[in-house]
Amino acid sequence: MLLTTIAPLFAAAYEREPKLYLDAIWQWYFSDVPRVNDVQIAYCAPWKTRLGLIRLSLDEQISFIGLNSLLQFLEIPEYVLIATIAHELVHYAHGFGSPLPKLYAYPHAGGVVERELEKRELGVHMRCSTQWIDNEWFAFYDRYRTPTGETKGARGKLKPSS
Ligand SMILES: [Zn+2]
Repeated sequence: MLLTTIAPLFAAAYEREPKLYLDAIWQWYFSDVPRVNDVQIAYCAPWKTRLGLIRLSLDEQISFIGLNSLLQFLEIPEYVLIATIAHELVHYAHGFGSPLPKLYAYPHAGGVVERELEKRELGVHMRCSTQWIDNEWFAFYDRYRTPTGETKGARGKLKPSS
């Protein structure tokens, strides 16, 4: 199985540092996509039903990729983090959350994200991530939720990211 890993390339102090992952993933898998504005990335909150998001500032100077803060836990496989960042970069490349021209009517129109990830040889990461999320996410979430987190609601299916 072709499943690249990125963490060992970096010093331990930078383990799961999102900016390093963003730069590495961009360089290795998205080098044809121009970085036309300031792309920032950070861990946000321990969302229950969202892994990541990408937003464009009103003046289009900044694209912000927000990651579920639980992704920094090493118990979550690295391919989930990689697949999540790659998913948001696909949106950027397609003109969603970025100043690039919009290539589709909707961010997830007709499975365009999945096809793009396969095309860029990130399909294994995506499929392994989906499988892990389907099997492990809610149990993991219940172990690591914050005491104030809202976790008692009905269990829906986790949206991969948006
Ligand atoms: Zn999405």
